[in-house]
Amino acid sequence: MDLKSLIRDIPDFPKPGILFRDITTLLRDPEGLHYTIDFFTKECIDAGLQADYVIGMESRGFIFGSLLAYKLGSGFIPVRKRGKLPAAVHSIEYELEYGTDCLEVHQDALQLGSRVLIVDDLIATGGTASATAKLVQQIGCELVGFGFIIELRDLQGRKHLPDVPIISLIEY
Ligand code: AMP
Repeated sequence: MDLKSLIRDIPDFPKPGILFRDITTLLRDPEGLHYTIDFFTKECIDAGLQADYVIGMESRGFIFGSLLAYKLGSGFIPVRKRGKLPAAVHSIEYELEYGTDCLEVHQDALQLGSRVLIVDDLIATGGTASATAKLVQQIGCELVGFGFIIELRDLQGRKHLPDVPIISLIEY
């Protein structure tokens, strides 16, 4: 299946110069969604990326991360922006182009030695995935790998990630 044909390109969103890869058009396509999740699951299994928990980053990582966790028989854990999670959290600050941002996970969601797979819809610069990796590694989790639906190759985001298997289904 031609997954790229299900992704809508929106120029200059959310700001001038960014070509936004919109996955909502893929999600609303019944066959496309089914195919994507089955393909994602197979790629993860083939790469040995089975984990106790799939970690998904706010917000599109929740969608693909939950579906993948269901298929792999793993639990799902959300990583959210500052102030969104209700219970006690571990936090990590990371650099953006301008300023910093913060990601959080519930303290009781992960333990030393938990095996985790980090999932997001897209990797661009790798800043979000790299910060999430640091967050789970600081807790003492075993990071088994990363899964992305889309990878923007030119930005070389994977260079900033730890040396574990990285899967992406669609490359631009
Ligand atoms: P980064 O931290 O630079 O790897 O950016 C990854 C995050 O930003 C992901 O959660 C993506 O959903 C979002 N993102 C970055 N660039 C794009 C883009 N061109 N189109 C859609 N989403 C993007």
